[in-house]
Amino acid sequence: MKVLSIIVPVLNEFESIPIFFSELEKIHKSLEEYSFEYWFIDDGSTDNTINSIRTIQKNAPYVHYISFSRNFGKEAALYAGLKNATGDYVVVMDVDLQDPPELLPEMLLSVDSGEWDAVGTRRTTRTGEPRIRTFFSDLFYKIINRISDTEFVNGARDYRVMSRPMVDAVLEMSEYNRFSKGIFSWVGFKTKYLEYKNIERIAGETSWSFWKLLKYSIEGIVSFSQVPLLLISILGFISFTISIILALFILVRALLFPGSAIDGWASMLIVILFFASIQLLSLGIIGRYIASIYLEVKNRPIYITKEKNNVSLKRVYNLQIDPQNHC
Ligand code: UDP
Ligand code: MG
Repeated sequence: MKVLSIIVPVLNEFESIPIFFSELEKIHKSLEEYSFEYWFIDDGSTDNTINSIRTIQKNAPYVHYISFSRNFGKEAALYAGLKNATGDYVVVMDVDLQDPPELLPEMLLSVDSGEWDAVGTRRTTRTGEPRIRTFFSDLFYKIINRISDTEFVNGARDYRVMSRPMVDAVLEMSEYNRFSKGIFSWVGFKTKYLEYKNIERIAGETSWSFWKLLKYSIEGIVSFSQVPLLLISILGFISFTISIILALFILVRALLFPGSAIDGWASMLIVILFFASIQLLSLGIIGRYIASIYLEVKNRPIYITKEKNNVSLKRVYNLQIDPQNHC
């Protein structure tokens, strides 16, 4: 029997968890040839999320959870899930049922046939989302696809079924700045996309503010493109050329019309402001890359586990150092 691991990152989702679980169990019943293994990753929830998971766990021993010591972000939660999943196939899903479970049998079938290594999903509409967000999201995909060698599919969700070799490849990428949409594409493998219309979340609220999304997209660009660095080099070259032309002009004017240079206050101010702003802009871009390197070399853990599967880590630790338990 093949095992399917279901990875579900959750942040303050106590209302959605039971609804999600009962929907998934319906699919579970129809897929008799697979055994399911759930991994709920509690990403530092401050509500009753953990109790919600424990409640469903009582009747379903194949439900596991990892609880983080604080909020580390959805990307860290996905990584933790992938690391712990043992399945032959792994599916990553949001708990708010925006990723339709009905698609799961078809996705599994395609991967199981051996023709595809992964089946991803993409939403073709964005109903229920503010227009401004859709506009910036489209803009982001246009920009990143121009400046990155990695392909980013507009509207692609994280909802995807992956085969074990692909999961292992994703785990090899243990970088700190994680941008899954890029990582899934970067590792390669044959991926098929299923399309569906956007579905609004069943309960709770989205935890992504506009600024959080903007920061996330900048992280994506820095992680998967060096073009911004090339652009500032080009900008530097252009401004250098302009400065040579200007210098010649000023020199010739000073020689031909001595004393007239005193009129140049306005133009001088414009030139100073122009070059100063180009320098600041360039420093800002370089700074973003340095910040990324800084976080990467610090080599901090991507997440910290507080509790796993009902077994408090502290207890595990005590068992290990307690000499009485060695015999
Ligand atoms: N999530 C998480 N950590 C976070 C933010 C979100 O684990 O810091 C989870 C959340 O509980 C949900 C999924 O990631 O299961 C997608 O989040 P959300 O629905 O808020 O995002 P959206 O669908 O609006 O993009
Ligand atoms: Mg959602």
